Amino acid sequence: MTAPANPLRILVVEDEPALRRFLVPTLAGQGYQVLTAATAAEGLAQARSHNPDLVLLDLGLPDQDGMEVLRQLRAWSRRPIVILSARNQERDKVRALDHGADDYLAKPFGAAELLARLRAALRRAVQTEAGDSVVAGGGLRVDLARRDVSLDGRPVHLTALEYRLLEALVRRHGKVATHAQLLVEVWGPGGAGNTHYLRIYMAMLRRKLEADPARPRHFITEPGVGYRLDLDGPG
Ligand code: CA
Repeated sequence: MTAPANPLRILVVEDEPALRRFLVPTLAGQGYQVLTAATAAEGLAQARSHNPDLVLLDLGLPDQDGMEVLRQLRAWSRRPIVILSARNQERDKVRALDHGADDYLAKPFGAAELLARLRAALRRAVQTEAGDSVVAGGGLRVDLARRDVSLDGRPVHLTALEYRLLEALVRRHGKVATHAQLLVEVWGPGGAGNTHYLRIYMAMLRRKLEADPARPRHFITEPGVGYRLDLDGPG
């Protein structure tokens, strides 16, 4: 398997150093970018500033219950959260899932099981609202599962932020994505209000993915509201 052009970012919130020493190389070895936090406060701060693609969250943290971290993350993020816990009890598992966790791993677990669960959670997360992971039209093709973007059959390389913006539009293609939705999905809640970021990154996407960036066919501005990805129009 070749490394993806646009690596996924995983945040590990875990206070046990031995477990972090196992998780970090295991995940990095699969091509993931890994961020770590040893407390609930640090985890929430990392999530807000780096908006990771997946969070691995320990329930037993020194400063706050992991369940509270889960609740706060779910207030703004729909990205997958996989719980790690030594408390192998049905009650905790159900509570975490009820609070929006995607999956649950009881310690101890092996690398193969961990990676399989992560791949499954990430795969479920890349489906569009219509249930597809590939959208195409007018020469533009985006495969969310493989993180591949091509224009007229030629691969296009995007920066991490450009890709996230494209992904947020692809998930809702045909529908309007509001400025607030895009800002939070791409930059995290810390980015809300920075509408000028959107204009800058939208211009970059249009330069890379529109035949005539000055007269966009796919990346449509909805004045005062947001943007819409249109793949059905003439391309
Ligand atoms: Ca712990």
